[in-house]
Amino acid sequence: MKRALINVDYTNDFVAEDGALTCGKPGQAIEAEIAKLTKEFISQGDYVVFAIDLHKKADHYHPETKLFPPHNIEGTRGRDLYGELNDIYMEALKNGENIYWMDKTRYSAFAGTDLDIRLRERAINEVHIVGVCTDICVLHTAVDAYNKGYKITIHSKATASFNPTGHEWALEHFRSSLGADVK
Ligand code: ZN
Repeated sequence: MKRALINVDYTNDFVAEDGALTCGKPGQAIEAEIAKLTKEFISQGDYVVFAIDLHKKADHYHPETKLFPPHNIEGTRGRDLYGELNDIYMEALKNGENIYWMDKTRYSAFAGTDLDIRLRERAINEVHIVGVCTDICVLHTAVDAYNKGYKITIHSKATASFNPTGHEWALEHFRSSLGADVK
């Protein structure tokens, strides 16, 4: 099994206290764990993807415009990775052929991106997913990974949501419906 780590949306807007669409405390509480796992994958030479929401201001064609306040707007610091993860990413970039920053515009990291092609050309068949929110972008990414035939591991201590019920429901769904290894 060749594996990749998919880091989902751990940005200032989704995690920081003053973030535009923040998970708040639960998001901040996973900082050390997401940092630890990311360092581990980088040091082992695994492929590490940062799948990060990208929005344009007042995009009337985008379905999220009606659902959420503006977030992760192009060119703002809201799109920068939060806390220690940003330092790890910056450091890793220096010799980073296994590091891939990938803009995404929908919940799933597979929607409208070249993620599937990138994983397949590297013969990666197992994805490990971390980030926020467990029951939105992590969920949709995991569902697409399942449909495409990837083996899935979810690191529960490195995922979080603003909605504790949604968080627990999603973890159970990963286990019982997607056959994921939930650690
Ligand atoms: Zn979004």
